[in-house]
Amino acid sequence: MEIIIGWLYPKLMSTYGDRGNVITIEKRAQWRGYDVKVLPLDQNATADDIKSVDIIVGGGAQDRQQEIVMRDLQGAKADAMRDKIENGTPGVFTCGSPQLLGHYYEPGFGQRIEGLGILDLVSIHPGENTKRCIGNLVIEVTASRLAQELEAMIGTKPYLVGFENHGGRTKLGKVEALGKVVYGLGNNGEDGTEGAFYKNAIATYSHGPLLPKNPFVADWLIQTALKLKYQQEITLTPLNDTLAMQGREAMFNRLKVNLPTVAKLKV
Ligand code: GLN
Repeated sequence: MEIIIGWLYPKLMSTYGDRGNVITIEKRAQWRGYDVKVLPLDQNATADDIKSVDIIVGGGAQDRQQEIVMRDLQGAKADAMRDKIENGTPGVFTCGSPQLLGHYYEPGFGQRIEGLGILDLVSIHPGENTKRCIGNLVIEVTASRLAQELEAMIGTKPYLVGFENHGGRTKLGKVEALGKVVYGLGNNGEDGTEGAFYKNAIATYSHGPLLPKNPFVADWLIQTALKLKYQQEITLTPLNDTLAMQGREAMFNRLKVNLPTVAKLKV
């Protein structure tokens, strides 16, 4: 069995180590014996390339890069992205990427950048003199189906650890939040929401990168992709995640986030 990871604009959208998300999915799939191909979905890619992928990964970007990406992601390519997400292709989209999947992003300086309108959300940077949202981030996943499926995998409530660095503030429309903020600022520092979850697309402000710190999310993406592609239930063989889990606990302790259930995470 093979998984094709589509990586959105690797050179323009990989801030704060977000390429680690691609590497984590690639390695965790290979360690289970699956073949993996990483396909850059950049200016040289076609709509057919986008149609061919099984998982989509999009990282963060600075405002200038977001503008370049959105100029390229038009027409047949935009339609292919829309179809993929609407049809349930799993994906993880960080920071600048969800801003582009929403209706629009208004940078602190310059013109509004129209998004793909796949996620019912808007993002606005309140201006260059406003403080950026920077720091560690812990969230509890509350998006109902995802929370249930992750809980079934790890045997406890899913909490995600990450790091945020964004000027834009995101307001959700009808789309479900990915989670609620336990530590940090999240979508806008006001309503306690973090990220969004739509079909099988995970949108988040968490860099870090997200997946090495929360490897069970990578497994959920792999499992969901294989199920959709091969139309059968897939159970992934367990891996030894002791170090990742210890890293998470160290972070919870450092941030004084008291999550009693976290200790029960299987390693
Ligand atoms: N340009 C966006 C913002 O500042 C996204 C930044 C990022 O992806 N880290 O809100």
